Amino acid sequence: MSFILSHLRNHGRSYFLGSVFLLATNSLVMSIPWRLKGIIDSLKAGHATTGALTRAAVIIAVTAALLTITRTISRWLILGASRRIVYDVRNDLFAHMQTLPASFYGRHRTGELMSITVNDLRLIRSLYGPCVLYILDLLIAYSIGLTLMAILDPILMVAAILPYPLLLLGVYRSSHTIHRRSNAVQEQLGEISNKVQENLSGINMVKAYGREDSEVESFGALCREYRSRALALARSRGLIGVLMMGLGATSTLVVFWLGARHVIAEVLTLGGFIAFLIYLTPLTEKTIIMGWILGTFQRGLGAVSRIAAIHAERSDLPGDWATGSAPSLTGRVSCRNLTFSYPDASGAAPARLRDIDLEVAAGSMVGIVGRVGAGKSTLIRLIAGVYPVRDGSILLDGRDLNSIPTEHLRGHLAIVPQETFLFSRTIAENIALGRPGASRARIEEVAEIAQLNRDLPQFSHGLDTIVGERGVTLSGGQRQRVALARALLLDPRILILDDALSSVDADTEEAILRALRDYMRDRTTFVVSHRAATIFDADLIVVLDDGRIAETGSPADLLRREDGLFSRMVRQQRIERELESM
Ligand code: ADP
Repeated sequence: MSFILSHLRNHGRSYFLGSVFLLATNSLVMSIPWRLKGIIDSLKAGHATTGALTRAAVIIAVTAALLTITRTISRWLILGASRRIVYDVRNDLFAHMQTLPASFYGRHRTGELMSITVNDLRLIRSLYGPCVLYILDLLIAYSIGLTLMAILDPILMVAAILPYPLLLLGVYRSSHTIHRRSNAVQEQLGEISNKVQENLSGINMVKAYGREDSEVESFGALCREYRSRALALARSRGLIGVLMMGLGATSTLVVFWLGARHVIAEVLTLGGFIAFLIYLTPLTEKTIIMGWILGTFQRGLGAVSRIAAIHAERSDLPGDWATGSAPSLTGRVSCRNLTFSYPDASGAAPARLRDIDLEVAAGSMVGIVGRVGAGKSTLIRLIAGVYPVRDGSILLDGRDLNSIPTEHLRGHLAIVPQETFLFSRTIAENIALGRPGASRARIEEVAEIAQLNRDLPQFSHGLDTIVGERGVTLSGGQRQRVALARALLLDPRILILDDALSSVDADTEEAILRALRDYMRDRTTFVVSHRAATIFDADLIVVLDDGRIAETGSPADLLRREDGLFSRMVRQQRIERELESM
């Protein structure tokens, strides 16, 4: 609720002025039947003159023209404020989502977040725009209309609004059903967005595995469910509409019957009776629209609570975020008694790393090897600060990683994942992602270390070639090397390659690592690789097995242990290579 009010307050001036113009509009609207009443009564009494009639007609025409203007201004003020509010909410939400940790994106699927950022914002606009506008309009119209009706004939006024409580009760009851059903519709829309998003990102897989028909079929099933939910919602909406119109008509009937008797009994003039009927129509209509408003209002509240829930999410990385004045890091890394499980809703996720103790001197190259699922990526994600350390500790230069501000860490540490993301910009701009102002010479230098210069002749404009969406025009190996150049440009004290050269051929990989060895001479490098040969040059090898350190030592030491895991891996890979080359 405070979320709603704070935005209303921020744009209070527009809403206040909007209400003033709504008041003016309603006063002008209601003045017309009053004037008509005068004309009809004077006609009936037989003392109406042509001049007076013409004058009245001109006044009514001018009033009508004026009220068109005031109505437009009131809508412009209130609906305009709602657009500005949604602009703020959308920007705040996006900026906030950028700060949220990986665990948040593990818990929420992309489609769901898309649905919140697109559909829920539309609902919020309805809440701050049409909803507020109609509610204000209804309140003003009720106060003026009922007062005038009471002046004309108080008994008739009471009779006219007798069905209204019943009307509102009906709306209130059924709005719960509407709320539930519209949530169901919204959820299903989230499912559909998710499906489309997953399908489009994985379209190459869908085609490669010939899954088009089954994708169309499962999408069809989602759409059928959406259609039936939407129809259920439309049915309950329709029912309310009919109910309201029925009650509205009853009210008119009562007024007709009782009003006519009052005219006969001369309690009410004929003009007054007609004016009364004219007043009643917009009130009934507005009350009926209230049914729609209540539904939209509730859906808007649902959207507000979903967005407020995202705003309540905090990055789970502890530490002082604001300070960036920590001394520069040399690149010494220690893990003490580190145990880790991925954050999970049940709280019972298995430990993916257990009792890791590790000392890495600044400036060394560390190879991390192990079977698939051994925990290699998990370990380096922790060192990169992607997840907070809760059990045990990681120290950088003796400082607890958790206490190092994320921005500071990002300035000293770069990670190159196996799967990278390229934007539809030039290769050079993709490299300069983290340093948009980098000089051309620097970009060329890192591109050369990543051995991209070998491929440049293939590209029409060299480094200025625009890559297709998600870099589909680059090979897997080229994409990985752009990602490496991107990380190198950050000039990191600690560089982490997470199987980042897996798609690069062995020759190029060797050339990259040679160049890297030179470039990273006094910096720390972690290389996760499934190719043992890559790591022969490392200062330290860490072999992980099922979340524990199975062996550590220099490559030469580990090779000497004939039955060690590392020796076995190396032998196995040699045999595989020989088999491949046969
Ligand atoms: P490796 O890099 O050695 O192949 P990982 O560190 O990626 O292994 O994975 C170790 C274990 O952690 C695996 O069992 C994997 O299923 C699990 N795991 C990896 N990433 C996540 C994640 N984001 N959420 C939950 N479990 C994960």
